[in-house]
Amino acid sequence: MKAVLLTGLRQAQLQEKPEPELPEQHWVLLRTKVAGICGSDLHYFISESVGGEKVPYPCLVGHECSAEVVRVGSAVRQLQPGDRVAVEPSISCGVCDQCLAGRFHTCRKIKFLGHPGELDGCLAEYFVMPAGNLIKLPPSITLEEAMLAEPLSIALHALNLAGLGPNDRVAVLGTGPIGLCLIMLLRHQGLSQIFATDRSEARVRAALQAGASWAASVEQEDVVQEILSRQPLGLEAVFEVSGDQEAIDQSVDLVRPGGRIIQVGIPVPERVSYQIARLRRKEVTIINSRRQNRCLEPALELIQDKKIEVSWLLTHRFRLEEAQQAFTTAADRLDGVLKAAFVL
Ligand SMILES: [Zn+2]
Ligand SMILES: [Zn+2]
Repeated sequence: MKAVLLTGLRQAQLQEKPEPELPEQHWVLLRTKVAGICGSDLHYFISESVGGEKVPYPCLVGHECSAEVVRVGSAVRQLQPGDRVAVEPSISCGVCDQCLAGRFHTCRKIKFLGHPGELDGCLAEYFVMPAGNLIKLPPSITLEEAMLAEPLSIALHALNLAGLGPNDRVAVLGTGPIGLCLIMLLRHQGLSQIFATDRSEARVRAALQAGASWAASVEQEDVVQEILSRQPLGLEAVFEVSGDQEAIDQSVDLVRPGGRIIQVGIPVPERVSYQIARLRRKEVTIINSRRQNRCLEPALELIQDKKIEVSWLLTHRFRLEEAQQAFTTAADRLDGVLKAAFVL
């Protein structure tokens, strides 16, 4: 089969690989239909080390996807060839302390689709997953929407952790697809004071389209000053969705005393820093949001019920043969890209 492999710094190549086997009777062979490039996939493209760990090239990444069932293991009852599915990318053990506490996303033995060293990803013609990770799609959800349900689920998890009320004032720093999903979810929850920032002009415009009450580029304006001139007491919550040190510093400036910073973006370096005196004096709570926990089905329901419109986020479609161009476009934010995806 054809697969996109990251083979080194800023190198994405189409290569031939053997089709995966079903490892156990409850697994399913899937044909990839739409596979998005996530910001976390890009980290393995733009940096040779992520979070202090060296990237083990070559790697087959990708975890945001919709797929079609090709073959099911002998123990699979609820799915059959031809079914269209959304994919929960995280496989948890179900028996460790974290799983027993309902924290499946911090499972001690977690295996994640397309996480180097754990499972091969979905940027290929075929991949395998346990049947329990697959959600059969209703006819009203498109394959593109089903792929976008995954980034929406990440935003939904972060929103759930934040515990906001409808009158809270918030900021979303970084308005790529997950930041944009967050803005739409915040709107849907009834919040109206949503301040958004990004580096890219296209993403600032997209933030307004998603429902931000104010949005600006950090390249053009002193965004902290602009936001605090509108909200002098500061914000109840700041979602840091970029992973950049600059935005982490801004989140400390923007949050009001007693407020919270929700860290959603994944910093590429092993360490980031906070102005601890300001953080401590304001008694700020920092909430780390990791991937998501059982949020894919609720995300699909929001899409199905037309509560959240995600399809406009997919701006760039590529064939597997265009792997290098796809990764470069997404990594360098070329051509106003929001979400780039392979469509097979
Ligand atoms: Zn992702
Ligand atoms: Zn577990």
